[in-house]
Amino acid sequence: MPFPNRPTPRRRTGQLFRLTTGLIPLALFFALTACAAHTSTSRGNKSTPPAPTQAQPATQATTPSAPESEAKQCPSGLWLQVLGSGGPELTPDRASSSYLVWDHGQAVFLLDSGGGSFLRFAQAKAQWRDLKALLFSHFHADHSVDLTAFIKASWFGQRHQDLPLLGPWGNRLTPDANEFVARNIGKDTGAWAYLSDFYDDKPGASYRIRPHTVPANQSADSPVYQGNGWRVYAHRVTHGPLPALAWRLEKNGHVLVYSGDTTGEGLAPLLRKPVHLFLAHNAIPQNAGATARALHMTPRQIGQLAAIAQPQTLVLSHRMHRSLEQEDQTARLIAQHWSGTLRFANDLDRFCIP
Ligand SMILES: [Zn+2]
Repeated sequence: MPFPNRPTPRRRTGQLFRLTTGLIPLALFFALTACAAHTSTSRGNKSTPPAPTQAQPATQATTPSAPESEAKQCPSGLWLQVLGSGGPELTPDRASSSYLVWDHGQAVFLLDSGGGSFLRFAQAKAQWRDLKALLFSHFHADHSVDLTAFIKASWFGQRHQDLPLLGPWGNRLTPDANEFVARNIGKDTGAWAYLSDFYDDKPGASYRIRPHTVPANQSADSPVYQGNGWRVYAHRVTHGPLPALAWRLEKNGHVLVYSGDTTGEGLAPLLRKPVHLFLAHNAIPQNAGATARALHMTPRQIGQLAAIAQPQTLVLSHRMHRSLEQEDQTARLIAQHWSGTLRFANDLDRFCIP
């Protein structure tokens, strides 16, 4: 029994996570303001470091008018914030894939944790103690490598509730979600076993990571997580040979769908209407080669999926050198299939889930 204090990974597979703890009081003030100014038309400029200016709205969070103005901008109170808009390449102004979902001033879900998200999370003034779950699309390094840094940082925080971590099944290339945590911080298996209090060792930490492997045959009709008014669904998508998931998050009729990295195959079951905000990865241009197309969606494929989902807003992220500065062509190809509000993401941008 490698983890005597825990259910085995297999037994937890396929179970539905239900938050059993009570509601945490809502924050008095929203964390950020003035998001619209840098989400409306921004298409990215590789030579412009965004962090200081884009982080700036966070410093305005204590102004008394912040909740009022933000409520006008986004009556649902639900926001997507981009922590990392880049891919796995080194770029001076883009962290790798990572996103926050904010619910009335609390960051409640962290979607992926690629390199650099650790810094962006702090710049966004999110609180680890507020998170309800960590959701992983897959375990490529540019989607997951900062997890252990977050866990270490939480030693100095105030979290007292266990934290579910949901991610895909494994294969020879990447471990399943349970094994991923074990290989990071497991007592006998972790590269950073000194952090095993947060997982499977004697409870010296104030909370534990509770991994849950979403199986490859997970139905898109059954939630894998429920709590605090949220229903979260996952479905298998094709991303080359990698086990990979797309996610659908719903609260009070407001819906966000996150594609993760994928060719688009497997996404349709999560695109049942309504979809209000569709976050899609724009890693390749239309003329990409076969290898890239076995991993990612072309702009035309994104447009075809948007035509199914009919979101109010389509946000394109995972922007790489090969897709940056192709925005005009990308927008034109998508517009052949779907018309709505299209945004190209930059780090720390916020988008209302309308
Ligand atoms: Zn990937």
